Amino acid sequence: MRTVIRGVTVLTMDEENTVFDPGMVVIEDDTIVAVGPDGDQGPADVVLNRPGAILLPGLVNGHMHSRPARALGDGLTLRVWHDHYPDNVVRMLEPGDVRLGALLGCGEAMAGGTTTLLAMPNKPAEFGAACAELGIRACVAAHATDRPEMADSCDSLEDNMEAVRSQAEDETGGRVKFWLGFEHQNAASDQMVVAMAEAAEAYDTGLTTHLCESAGDIDKHVERYGARPVPRYADLGVISPRTVFAHGNWLTQDEIETLASAGASVIHNPVSNMRMGTGVAPVQDFLDAGLKTGLGTDGLLSAYRLDMFEVMRATAMLQRIVHLDPLRMPAPTILRMATADGAKALGMGDKIGSIECGKLADLALIDGRRLHLAPRLRGVHDNIEALVVFAASGDDVVDVWVGGAHVVADGSPTTIDVASIIDEAEGRQPHLSTLFGDHRP
Ligand SMILES: [Zn+2]
Repeated sequence: MRTVIRGVTVLTMDEENTVFDPGMVVIEDDTIVAVGPDGDQGPADVVLNRPGAILLPGLVNGHMHSRPARALGDGLTLRVWHDHYPDNVVRMLEPGDVRLGALLGCGEAMAGGTTTLLAMPNKPAEFGAACAELGIRACVAAHATDRPEMADSCDSLEDNMEAVRSQAEDETGGRVKFWLGFEHQNAASDQMVVAMAEAAEAYDTGLTTHLCESAGDIDKHVERYGARPVPRYADLGVISPRTVFAHGNWLTQDEIETLASAGASVIHNPVSNMRMGTGVAPVQDFLDAGLKTGLGTDGLLSAYRLDMFEVMRATAMLQRIVHLDPLRMPAPTILRMATADGAKALGMGDKIGSIECGKLADLALIDGRRLHLAPRLRGVHDNIEALVVFAASGDDVVDVWVGGAHVVADGSPTTIDVASIIDEAEGRQPHLSTLFGDHRP
């Protein structure tokens, strides 16, 4: 199968940020085999000629959760909110709910240009099967604990192990991969963390958790374990290029350097952090220290939307106002964090994250012919990257390919029945509402 996408502005996000305008990309099966200026590329099975459209590498969402509920518990602190909403959703999951949550959230993400995500669901095997059905590229890590009081709202080490062992029967060609994951820094014993790091090594996969998200969480960690999380994990020998930490809002300079020198990664979640009031991550310090940094939405319940364009815009806005510095976080830096750098953060930089020959054809096409994306300037005032980061949204994405498969067309996933997913999610709400109880602030 040979597909040619032509007449578009191609933001390659290669090392030089090369832009072809107008440009062309040729896909052979699952791989990009040509990229360059627009022209004749010979016979093809499919030719899409889209003048005015903008072609990006598929976006990489490095941290998300997706359950069949959204936008609940506004006005509660992180832990109170977590106890009453995400944890209660998990307690009342019924057969089919994990699949429903996955198709709802990952379907939204994919329709908005995200082609790869690192998800932390409950019941990873069921979630992974839904990602396989949807066609998105996914790293799926469980949400585990070995604390008895949290057992009814989390997975276990064994759930993690079952998922990574099942990788041997993978039928997606590696598109859906199981990782290890524990719920957050305060929810896993030394033994469990070490066992997960060893399993990540043995099964050649990754390990993820929430780290230093709120100041209160760190106080709790010190009380429980006698140290801050990063020194504890360093002592346990579990920080490596396989570890991806979400948030890192309260990391110290020393801790940032520890993570960077071990080759670990951090995923910045500005929208969720602002929504929950948990903190402002020292993102510039991450980048200055050479710490691999990607971007994430966090979950449907805390971020409302899984729109990586919103996350890109928030990354710039938040850093600039906090530091009173409009020069922070220029658009090309942010676009790299959402694409090539995000791919590196997940250990996939050699396969995805840029539009280059030999890489997997994970692509997102934006309809540039929209009022809020005009006028496009060229030459010395070229504004293409700023338009994408500051003016575009996930709703402007019209076509998406994952591994060469055309999984979104005309703005809608081709692999699922969107209307029936929405109907099913709506139908579940009365049940969810009765079980939440009255925890409104
Ligand atoms: Zn999270």
